[in-house]
This record gives sequence, C-alpha cells and structure tokens, in this order.
Amino acid sequence: MRKPLLTRLLKLRELDNTWRARVQQENLKRLYFLALFGVLLSLSQIVLFWLLDAQGSAREARWREISLLVHPAILLLSLLIGGLTLRLRHLDNQSEAVELLSILTATLVLAVGLMLTAFDQLVIQGVTPLVTACSITALLLYLRPLTAFALFSSALFISLLIINELSPSPAQRLSSTMNSITACASGLLVSWILYRNFLREQQLRKVLLRQRETLKARTRQLQFQATHDTLTGLFNRREFERLTENELSRVNRHPAPLSLLMLDLDHFKAINDNFGHPAGDAVIRHVARLLSEHTRNCDTIGRLGGEEFIILLPETDLPQAQQTAEKLRGLIEHSAIDVDNGRLRITASVGLACLAPGCQTDLSPLYLAADQALYRAKRAGRNRVEHFYFTPSAPDLSSPPLS
Ligand code: GH3
Ligand code: MG
Ligand code: MG
Repeated sequence: MRKPLLTRLLKLRELDNTWRARVQQENLKRLYFLALFGVLLSLSQIVLFWLLDAQGSAREARWREISLLVHPAILLLSLLIGGLTLRLRHLDNQSEAVELLSILTATLVLAVGLMLTAFDQLVIQGVTPLVTACSITALLLYLRPLTAFALFSSALFISLLIINELSPSPAQRLSSTMNSITACASGLLVSWILYRNFLREQQLRKVLLRQRETLKARTRQLQFQATHDTLTGLFNRREFERLTENELSRVNRHPAPLSLLMLDLDHFKAINDNFGHPAGDAVIRHVARLLSEHTRNCDTIGRLGGEEFIILLPETDLPQAQQTAEKLRGLIEHSAIDVDNGRLRITASVGLACLAPGCQTDLSPLYLAADQALYRAKRAGRNRVEHFYFTPSAPDLSSPPLS
C-alpha cells in the first residue's frame, strides 16, 4: 500500500536531515584543518614579506605594506575560525551552526582571494589568489549546490568588477576575465561533484550497514536453528553432544563428579492418540519449560527427539543427581497441562548415569548407561528414577552392567 504523501515527504526530510548532519560532521573536521592551514600559510607569508627585499618602485612598496597588513588579518581570522570550530564540537545540535560557519569560512576565503587579487594588480596582472581561493573552497568544504552557486557567482561578479577597474590594458583585462570565469566555474563544478559524491557514498554506506545488520541477524538465526530444537527451544541432539563432550574432556583433565539424566514421558503415545498431536506438542513444550525452570544455569538440557529429554549436570555427584531427578519427576507428575480439549496429567521415567570423580570416559558409555537405567525404570513400572554409578574401580566403562 502506498504511504500518504505527507508521510513520504516527512521521511524524505528526515533522510535529508541525517545526510545534512553527516555533511556538517565532515565539514567540522575540515574546518579545523582549514583554520590550521590558514594559520600556517599566513605565518609563512608574514615571514616571507619581512625577509623580502624592501627595494622597488613606490607601487611595489605600497603592495608590500598592504600585504603585511592583510596576512596578519588572515592569521586572526584563521584563529577565530579554529576557536569557533572548537566551541561547536561541544554543541548538541551543531549541524546548522557548522553549516553557517562553513558558509562564512567559504565567503571569507573567497573574499580574501578577491582582496589579494585586487592588491596584486599593483604589481602583477593575474588572478592567482582568486584561483587558489576557489580551489580551497571547492576542495575543502562541502557546500550545498545552491550555496556554492551563490558564492562562486558572487565571487565571479566581484572579480570582474575588480579586473574592469584595475586592469591596465584590454588584453590583460580579457586574460584576467577568462581566468576568473574559469576559476569560479571550475570551483563550482568541483564543489558540486564532491558534494554529490559524498552524499552517494553516505547512501551506499547506509545500505551496506543495513545489509550487514540483516546478515548478522540471519546468521544468528541460522546458528540458533542449527543448534536448537524448534519445538522447545532446547539444545538439539548434535549440540547437546558437542557440549557434553566438552564437559567430559574438562572432567577427564580436572576430576569432578558429573551426571547425565535421560527422561522419557510415560505412555505419551496415548496422549497423541486421545488428544491429538497438537496437544502432544503442548505437553512436550510444557515439560521442556519445567525442566528449564527447575535446573541450574550451568546444566545443559537437550531434546533427543519425540518425548525424550536429556540433561547434563556438571559437578553433580550421585545423591545430588538423584535428588534433582526425583524433583523433576515429581514436578512433572504433579503439574496439570491445559490443552484445548481438557486438562492433562503425565508422568516421566528417568535413567541416571553418574560419573564419580576420576573416572575417564567419553559420551557413548555414559549415554548407554543412562539409556539402560531408563529402560529399567520403564520395566519397573514407570514414573520412577533408576541409576548407574561409574567409579574409578569399574573395569570397563564401554559396556556398563545391565542391572
Ligand atoms: P513409554 O511409556 O514406553 O515411553 O510409552 P510411549 O507411548 O511414551 O512411547 P513411544 O516411544 O511408543 O511413543 C512416543 C510417541 O511420541 C510416538 C510418537 O508419535 C510421539 N512423538 C514423537 N515426536 C513427537 C512430536 O514432536 N510431537 C508429538 N506430539 N508427538 C511426538
Ligand atoms: Mg520415547
Ligand atoms: Mg515415552
């Protein structure tokens, strides 16, 4: 559906404001350099004029005098711009102020260029200062196209007045006029191109950032899907095995007790048959939530498939593991599960395999032992906990005893 015109316009304005803010952030950085450049340039010019041979015609002496006044003025202006830039850095909403300072600086640079061009007419015929000023303005500051147009066309207009007034011969007037037009027109063109490129670069960067965020989110989602069970959000079998193998290698290096619980819901098929699979799913989710809520953060819970769960209890000896298994079994037995067409009660059988400190093993024997304990619990009437206990004196962990 198309959005209302006003919303679209407001969005455009928002976008425009963000870009403007970026442009002005960049201008703020450049204003520092410009101020520093101005200070160094004017200082070097002052030194140069001091060292310059004072001899020459009266016009040259006049030109030297004026230059010795103009360059300290440029030095002061550069210091002023530097100071203002430093102050603007700490301002909250600085965009408009920075834009204003950029326009003011550009105006000053062009004005100084025009002034020096006028004074230069005393000794040489040329518009070099204007060319330099146009280049500095176009290259160092980002100006909006209309602002740039106003500044460069005003500079051209004033330069033409100066040339018309001060050029001694028609040929020199023509040459300076051509050079002024070229300087101002190229300044405007370069300024437009750089401004447009900056905006394009910002747009591209924004698109890239958005794509990177989407990619990150998608990767996180895929990682979750690869390691978790979709129905319950518990670890899937593969991830559970990886985490348990890690824990077992830690225990093999630094002996500590460890227990594995295998939990299977009793007569679950009957729930599916009598209440339907959605009700069965609700029961599985309910048990998963119970297990998560009533185990420690360091315990690892996985869904093996169907209505079978597996829990790794690190640093847990046999009595503690039996206590935990009994607690979970009791919680399942005593909780009622609301489904669409009634209230369900369910029980679970638990097989427990406990590894005493100092036992070295990997997952398979432990898994096999928990599975056998579980089947003992089923055979013994369900809704109960059975266990195997591995001690360092057990001869062969690869085939645990059957009873
Ligand atoms: P026992 O007490 O011996 O464990 O009996 P049981 O009925 O629980 O055991 P059985 O393994 O025969 O049945 C498990 C059932 O779980 C069979 C299958 O239809 C069902 N099941 C497996 N995965 C899912 C699932 O994701 N959702 C649902 N609702 N049912 C599932
Ligand atoms: Mg089962
Ligand atoms: Mg079952």
